[in-house]
Amino acid sequence: MTARVLQTGLAIHCEHLSHYYELDGEEVTALDNVEFSVAAGESVALLGPSGSGKSTLLSLLAGLLRPSSGQIYLGADDITVMSESELLRLRGQRIGVVVQNPSRNLLPYGTAEQNISFAQRALRGYRRVDLQAPAELLAALGLSELSGQRVSRMSGGEQQRLSVAVAMAGSPGLLLADEPTSQLDTDNRDKVGELLTRITSSFGTTVVVVTHDPAVAAALGRSVTITEGRADDRDQHRQQFVRVDPDGAVRLPPDVLATLPPGSQLRVVRRPGGVELVLTAGAERAGTERSDPERPGGYR
Ligand code: ADP
Ligand code: MG
Repeated sequence: MTARVLQTGLAIHCEHLSHYYELDGEEVTALDNVEFSVAAGESVALLGPSGSGKSTLLSLLAGLLRPSSGQIYLGADDITVMSESELLRLRGQRIGVVVQNPSRNLLPYGTAEQNISFAQRALRGYRRVDLQAPAELLAALGLSELSGQRVSRMSGGEQQRLSVAVAMAGSPGLLLADEPTSQLDTDNRDKVGELLTRITSSFGTTVVVVTHDPAVAAALGRSVTITEGRADDRDQHRQQFVRVDPDGAVRLPPDVLATLPPGSQLRVVRRPGGVELVLTAGAERAGTERSDPERPGGYR
């Protein structure tokens, strides 16, 4: 059984994306000016410490939350300006989500096939005639042995694989999964990894998975680390946006700050296209600036 590519993968492009929650009257920064791009059909592991904003980013990409500021393009469309009904249609038709708690993805008394049918029922209102039959979809995902099994009798690992299959029920252009293996043993983690590999290699779906699991990260094409609400793409030329505070202080990313001890001097160079901050050789310590040649690596 082969996987049918029914929708092309959705490209993601987030610009100046910030999200703040309000907690007891205080503003909690979950994402701070994030730039994040994923090509159509690409698969990305989203890594980062607890509290760094990974789940928030997934909820924003799924259209379940609206950002405090910034843009989120899925394909050509900025979803931050969509109406609720447009978002609902987009979520139903083009986005598959696996939430963190496995049992919340499934109907416990239904079989695997019934769970997929149920997920597809909501799509019939959109006159979708291209939906893959549940048994066919399970076979394409290598999960035929689950077809007639009831969710309540499945192991945690089987339930999690079925959750991924249910998220694929509408052949989405974008699959989002939040820590899909966090409650599984090594063997089952590997199986979820294999399932994701199968999806990325034969479905054309764009895939973003939050994970701490090396087996899952290895199944995906690229890793992006998010720290303190900022995305840091290790595999690409790194550019980030930083904010200027009201007092004029520039908040440098932690890894850049680590190379610039307090008191470092940066030269401010006004250029036609903007302003460049240049670290001058020998000027790392306060009061030692000389007119040495510029050192590359200045922060733009
Ligand atoms: P991660 O998934 O990387 O652990 P989250 O996106 O869940 O991170 O959270 C990022 C930050 O936002 C954390 O500081 C968290 O405490 C805070 N946060 C998340 N959800 C809420 C909420 N509903 N209300 C207030 N603060 C929240
Ligand atoms: Mg989380």
